[in-house]
Amino acid sequence: MIADPPRIPEPIRTTCPYCGVGCGVLATPDGLGGIVVKGDPDHPANRGRLCSKGSALGETLGLHDRLLSPRVHGAEVSWDSALDLVAGRLSRVIAEHGPDAVAFYVSGQMLTEDYYVANKLMKGFIGSANIDTNSRLCMASSVAGHRRAFGTDTVPGLYEDLELADLVVLTGANLAWCHPVLYQRLAAARSARPDMRVVVIDPRRTATCDLADLHLPISPGSDAALFNVLLAAIADRGALNTGYLTQVNGLEPALRAARATDPGLTGLDPGLIARFTALWIGAEKVVTVYSQGINQSTHGTDNVSAILNCHLATGRIGRPGMGPFSVTGQPNAMGGREVGGLANMLACHLELENPGHRAAVQSFWASPTMAERPGLKAVDMFRAVADGRIKAIWIIHTNPVVSMPEADLVAAALQACPFVVVSDVTDQTDTARLAHVLLPAQAWGEKEGTASNSERTISRQRRLLPAPGQAREDWRILAQVATRMGFGPAFAWPDAAAIFAEHAALSGIAGGLGSDFDISGLAGLAAQDYADLTPFTWPRHARRSGGRFFATGQFHTPDGRGRMIPVTPERPEPRDPGHPFRLNTGRIRDQWHTMTRTARAPRLNQHLAEPFVEIHPADATRLGIGADDLVQVGNALGQVILRAQITERVQPGDLFAPIHWTGETASAARVDILVPGAVDPISGQPASKSARVALARYPAAWHGFAVSARKPGEPGGYWSRNRTEAGWRMELAGTDRPEDWLAFARDLFALNDAQPSIVTDARRGLVRLAFHDGPRLIAALYTGPAPLALARDFLAAQIGQPAPAQVLAGVPTGDQPDQGPILCACLNVGLHRIQAAIASGQARSVAELGALLGAGTNCGSCRSDLSALLGRHLAREPA
Ligand code: SF4
Repeated sequence: MIADPPRIPEPIRTTCPYCGVGCGVLATPDGLGGIVVKGDPDHPANRGRLCSKGSALGETLGLHDRLLSPRVHGAEVSWDSALDLVAGRLSRVIAEHGPDAVAFYVSGQMLTEDYYVANKLMKGFIGSANIDTNSRLCMASSVAGHRRAFGTDTVPGLYEDLELADLVVLTGANLAWCHPVLYQRLAAARSARPDMRVVVIDPRRTATCDLADLHLPISPGSDAALFNVLLAAIADRGALNTGYLTQVNGLEPALRAARATDPGLTGLDPGLIARFTALWIGAEKVVTVYSQGINQSTHGTDNVSAILNCHLATGRIGRPGMGPFSVTGQPNAMGGREVGGLANMLACHLELENPGHRAAVQSFWASPTMAERPGLKAVDMFRAVADGRIKAIWIIHTNPVVSMPEADLVAAALQACPFVVVSDVTDQTDTARLAHVLLPAQAWGEKEGTASNSERTISRQRRLLPAPGQAREDWRILAQVATRMGFGPAFAWPDAAAIFAEHAALSGIAGGLGSDFDISGLAGLAAQDYADLTPFTWPRHARRSGGRFFATGQFHTPDGRGRMIPVTPERPEPRDPGHPFRLNTGRIRDQWHTMTRTARAPRLNQHLAEPFVEIHPADATRLGIGADDLVQVGNALGQVILRAQITERVQPGDLFAPIHWTGETASAARVDILVPGAVDPISGQPASKSARVALARYPAAWHGFAVSARKPGEPGGYWSRNRTEAGWRMELAGTDRPEDWLAFARDLFALNDAQPSIVTDARRGLVRLAFHDGPRLIAALYTGPAPLALARDFLAAQIGQPAPAQVLAGVPTGDQPDQGPILCACLNVGLHRIQAAIASGQARSVAELGALLGAGTNCGSCRSDLSALLGRHLAREPA
C-alpha cells in the first residue's frame, strides 16, 4: 500500500503588524509551533515584498516573556476574578468621581475591532471621551490638518501614486528605514523611469537621501516656511489652478501669509530653494509624502496645512500620481482613526463636538449616555493621572513609560495612580511593571481582525497559531468588562466578524451624514465572508468602491469646498546656552517601538545593537568626544547615556537618538524622558524632535563587553543588553572600577561558584574572564579602561560552543570566520564579508554585492549602507 504523502500546510494570508505600509504576509505554520513567512504577492501594498522586520516575524513568536495568565498585584488569579476587579473598580470610580475620572490609553497596535469596542465602551457607555491612543504621538497633526482642509480625516491618494508621479517629495519621512517596502516601490519605479525625480527634505542626511536627486537640509522645524515659499512661487509663476480653486476657499489669506514668509527661516541656500520650487512647479504629477518630521512639532498642524495648501492651489490632488500623502507609523493607526480612537473623534470619522453626529451614534449604539466633549489627549491624560483627576487607567498594548514625552513623569504618575490595568502580551515592559492588574492578551498570529494601512486598504489579520495559556482577544476582554459593568447586550458579539459588521453598518449612517468613511457595502458581511475577506480600499458602499478623493473637489465640508489655511511659520527659538543641542528622536531600520517584539528576533538586534546618539564631528571635537565614547545627554527632565556615533548625517548643534531602548534593554537610554510635553495646540501632538539638551562625555573609568547563555543581570553604571542566537550580549561601563572582577562577573552572570579562566594585562588595564560548562562557553566578560575593540558578533556566536580559553583573545583565531556586524539583516551578511568583496574587486556596485553575497536583495533597507561602503572604497582608489 502506498502511504499518503505528508500534507503540506496551506499558507494563511495575514498582515504585518509593524508599520503603516500594511504589507500582506503569507504565513505557513511549520507544525512545530512556528511559522514560515513570505511576502504575499497578491497584496496590493507590497506585491510580495517584505522588509527586514516583516521577514523576521516568524522569529518573534514563542513563549519567552509571554504573559500567560491574569495577575493582580503580581499574583496569578482567574479571569473571573480579574474581570470582576476591573469592572468593579471602574464602576466605583465612576460612581464616586464621575466618568472623567477613568481613562483608556490604547494603541495603533490594536486591531480595528478591538479599537471599536474600547471606543464604544468609553464614549457611549461610560460617557467620557477619555480614550486616547499612542497614535496621538505619531499622526494627530495629519488628522487635524486633513480635517481643516478637507472637512474629514481623508488620505486622498494611493501608494501607486508614488510610482506614477514625476516628482516625489519626501519631507520629514525617512522612508528607507521607517516604511521600507514603500521605499522599495519608489526605488523600483525610479529605476524603471529615470526621468522621475525625488527630493528629500530633512535636517538629517538619512538613508532615504540615497535615492534623492536633491536633498534640502532644512533647519529643524522650518517646513511650513519652505512650503509657504513654494506657495508664493506657485502664484508668482502663474501655476495656480484657477479652475480647481473654484472648489477651494481661503486662497488669498493663505497667499498673504505665504508672501510674508522669510525664506531665510529655512536655513537653506536660496539656490537650493529655487531648484526645489522649480522642480515642484514644473512637475504636474507631484506627490508630497510626509510623516513624523512634519507631525511631531508644536506647529505640526500648520506644517500639514502648508503642504496641503500647495496641492489645493494647483489642483494636484486625487488624480493619478498627484497629492499630499501622510504615511502613518503604526500598523493600524488608520484603523484607530476610523473608529474614533482619538479623544476628540467619534466612530467612522464623525465629530464628537457635532450634536447631530453624537445623536446618530448614540441612537445606533442604543447607549445610555454619550460623551459630550472631547476627552483628554495623551499628554494631558497622563498629567491628569499625575494630579489625581484620573483615578483609574487601562493601558492596552502600549508602553507609555518609554514612549511618552516626559516619560519619567508618566512613570511617577502611574506609580501614584490608585488603579492601573495593563493588557499586553508580556509583563516585561516598563509600564507593565507598574500595573496593579495585568491582563494577558493575544499576540499577532493568534487573533482575528482587520487593520487599515496608510492608503486606506483594510486587510485581515488571521489566526495562525493557538493562543497560549489563558491569553484572550482584546475585544473579548473589553466586552467582558463592559458586561460586568451592566452593558452586556451592547457588547454581546460572538466573534470579531460581528464587530466588523456593526462598524460597517454604523459607517453607512456616517456616510449619510457626510463622512468619507463609509464601508456600508460590507455591513451585512457573514462570518464566512469575513473569514475570506480580501484586502480592499475604502470607501466601499453602493455608490463607489475605493479610488482617490478630491480630484474634482467634493470635500466633506458644509459647503463642499476645500479650505486653504493661512500659515504663519514660527521663528526658531533662540538657543539656550545651558542646553545648546536640539535632540531629534526617531526610529532605526530593524527595531519597532519599544522593542517588545523585534528584540525577540536576534538578527534584528545585530544591525544597531546599542543605544546611540548621532553627533556632528565639529561638536564632538569641541567637546572632546571620541569615536565610540559614551556620552551623557540631559536636561532638567533627566539624563540618558548613549554611545556616540560621530557623523555628518546630523548638522552641527543637532543630535539624533532612536526611541527604542527601554529600562529592560538599557540602564539609561529612554530618550523620551528628555522630551518636554509641549504639544501642537490643535492636534495635541507632542514635539518629539526638538528637545533642548546638553551633551558631555560620560566619564567612564572602565568599559566592558559580555556574552552569556543566560540573561545577564543589571549592574550599576551603564549597560545595554540584547538577545543573540545563542544567548545574550551586553555592553557595560562605569565611573568606578570594580575592585574584584571575579565577584563582579559572578554577580553579573549569576554564576556564584563557577571558576572561570582569567587573563589580565596589568600594563594595559585589561581583565578578561570566561566561564565554561565542560568544554562549552557559558559566559565571558571583557573589560578595559577604554572602549574595547572586539569581534563582538563572533564572541556572541561562541556561547554554547566548545570554545577554547583562547576565546579571551576577543577575536577569532586561525581559520575561524568573523563576518563582523550584520549589515543585511534579511540575508545575514556581515560588514567584514562585504568589505572583503569590495576590496577584492569582485563587487563594484550594490547590484554586484547583491549577486555575490545576496546583501540588499530582499528588503533593500541596507542598500544605502552598501552604497556608502562602496563610495568610500571607490573614493580611495587611485584615479
Ligand atoms: Fe511590515 Fe516592513 Fe511592510 Fe512595514 S514595510 S508593513 S514593517 S514588512
